[in-house]
Amino acid sequence: MDLNIDKANKEFRKRGINEIVKLNELLKYHTSLRIGGPADLFCSPRNLEELIKTISIAQECHIPFWIMGNGTNLLVLDKGVRGLVIKLGEGFKNINFFDKTVQAGAGVNLFYLSKVAFNKGLTGLEFAINIPGTIGGAIINNAGFAGRYMADIVESVTFLTKEKRIKKLPLADLNFKYRECDLKRQLAIILEATLFLKEGDKEKISSLMEEYVKIRKNKQPIDELTAGSVFKNPPGFYAGELIEKAGAKGLSRGGARVSSKHANFIINKGGAKATDVLFLIREIEKRVEENFGIKLEREIEIWGEL
Ligand SMILES: Cc1cc2nc3c(=O)[nH]c(=O)nc-3n(C[C@H](O)[C@H](O)[C@H](O)COP(=O)(O)OP(=O)(O)OC[C@H]3O[C@@H](n4cnc5c(N)ncnc54)[C@H](O)[C@@H]3O)c2cc1C
Repeated sequence: MDLNIDKANKEFRKRGINEIVKLNELLKYHTSLRIGGPADLFCSPRNLEELIKTISIAQECHIPFWIMGNGTNLLVLDKGVRGLVIKLGEGFKNINFFDKTVQAGAGVNLFYLSKVAFNKGLTGLEFAINIPGTIGGAIINNAGFAGRYMADIVESVTFLTKEKRIKKLPLADLNFKYRECDLKRQLAIILEATLFLKEGDKEKISSLMEEYVKIRKNKQPIDELTAGSVFKNPPGFYAGELIEKAGAKGLSRGGARVSSKHANFIINKGGAKATDVLFLIREIEKRVEENFGIKLEREIEIWGEL
């Protein structure tokens, strides 16, 4: 074992938090694609104090760390991740309503929150009904559907800086764009978000949610193992359409296949390796560039070693 990993593992024990850390945890158990090799260290801090201790250990032992949500936007490579992967635990899943405002922990499931908001007759989160990520991942990616985005409902975000200071920024300072926000570049760890919703009509909320579910079912491979859209839509185009026109729809490699329902999704048909998915990603990029002169930008993130 790498000396720094060994040292970090011992530090977890010394500081009395060894039960939140695992050695060589397979990340395929934590990603929606069900693909991914081991993380040297995998840690689930249950509260802020444990999170700060965890980051301190990583920094003192000079090991890189990553923060993951539900792993629904990730391709983790087959040899896994060298360093520490942090997945926020129970203490980051609180939901508190204050009239029409909701404070949600970074580990809360977005689709679950949309259901809770519906039960309270609050509108604004209908677009999130099928998005399987956490609040943290959804903020970092400015997740959205049908023209509605997290940026439309965020009031402020509280996060931990690299220096382990807690900061809170209002919407105006977060600089949300298509599938990104400034916190990503700052390597901030999102702790919670305050979202503003509006009073709504339960029937209207429910019918909008049903409509979104129907659109998804018709157009996307929602019953398959995927990591959502693989590529961002280039300005003025739909990535799925470009991929289809470039002849890559249905293409397969090993256990992975470009969905024949929606070409911007790659499916793990069973036993796919990250190398299979990566092959398809590169093949799509090559074909779209050759056919249309457009360089597709990846929406999914690739972590780890081949
Ligand atoms: C079936 C399916 C449908 C999908 N549909 C949509 C859709 O309609 N719209 C859409 O936008 N996306 C969609 N996605 C993609 C994905 O769900 C979103 O991007 C989601 O926001 C990712 O959240 P996550 O918790 O899974 O993040 P992860 O995939 O675990 O991580 C993604 C990024 O977020 C960062 N991150 C996670 N938590 C934190 C935190 N607390 N602090 C700082 N950084 C953090 C990670 O470091 C990483 O950079 C879909 C995915 C699937 C599998």
